[in-house]
Amino acid sequence: SIMPATLSAITAGAKQGILFKGGSHFEHLAKVERVVFDKTGTLTMSAPKVVDVVVASHVQKDDTLRLLGAIESKSNHPLAQALVKQLSITYTLTYEELFVEDLPGQGLRATTNEHTYLVGNESFVGEQLAHAFLQQHAIDTSGKSFVFLKDEQQILAAASLQDPIRPEAQQAIEQLKALKLTPVMLTGDNELAAKSVATALQIPEYEANCLPETKASYVQQHKHIAMVGDGINDAPALALADVGIAMGKGTAIALETAQVALMENDLRKVAQAVLLSRKLQTVIY
Ligand code: ADP
Ligand code: MG
Repeated sequence: SIMPATLSAITAGAKQGILFKGGSHFEHLAKVERVVFDKTGTLTMSAPKVVDVVVASHVQKDDTLRLLGAIESKSNHPLAQALVKQLSITYTLTYEELFVEDLPGQGLRATTNEHTYLVGNESFVGEQLAHAFLQQHAIDTSGKSFVFLKDEQQILAAASLQDPIRPEAQQAIEQLKALKLTPVMLTGDNELAAKSVATALQIPEYEANCLPETKASYVQQHKHIAMVGDGINDAPALALADVGIAMGKGTAIALETAQVALMENDLRKVAQAVLLSRKLQTVIY
């Protein structure tokens, strides 16, 4: 049976838009020392703007961009959706015989009758090829996320995108620091994009190029850790953290896996949830 104080904490949480899925999560959250954030869709708006799209000189531009758009139209990743929105202005994004496989944290593998394509970040298509392509086409890399299209041999196109930081993120991080918690950021995105967000938000510890399993093993290796995330790529870490917190507009799998669900995407609710948990512990003991 659930204690009356715990029950009223659950109710108080719900009123603030913080859904605790059980009474034991308060105890764990009250003991947390580190709060790990995913970047894309958690600290950022998940509304990336396409900054630049560049096609290799040896390929036909329209066919290549139509292919990129058609592959991305099979994904609901925020970068994919932004690209589809942009490319569908110019192209009809249909493509015959296209089979697409989703590799969370990396991108997509697409197969047509003739070719296998990769669509995703630099580590997915190969760092060296990716960096050479960016340099060769003088693409501005500061703080951008990238999506590359590659066939069996070479990079055919690259898009750079920028995802704005959530307006309340700065305040949310400050609130956690005031509660003596250490904020950490783990992202599947590249080093420069990760660094620009970590610097802007004064997050002392971050790691880029994280696969879903990298995030999961980080939370397993640390005690007293909460994980805040929104994506399918965060689900393993949300499940393994002492407390998993899902963003309200996150994917269904993140919301199902986490122990605490925010009813909106307001990051300040993380500190509110910690405060509520600490308050309950002082009532009980
Ligand atoms: P985060 O951990 O910050 O939420 P993700 O793990 O979702 O980021 O994505 C990491 C990187 O993988 C993205 O920056 C992007 O380059 C690439 N990526 C993932 N999914 C896709 C996709 N569907 N289309 C293109 N790129 C993708
Ligand atoms: Mg995310």
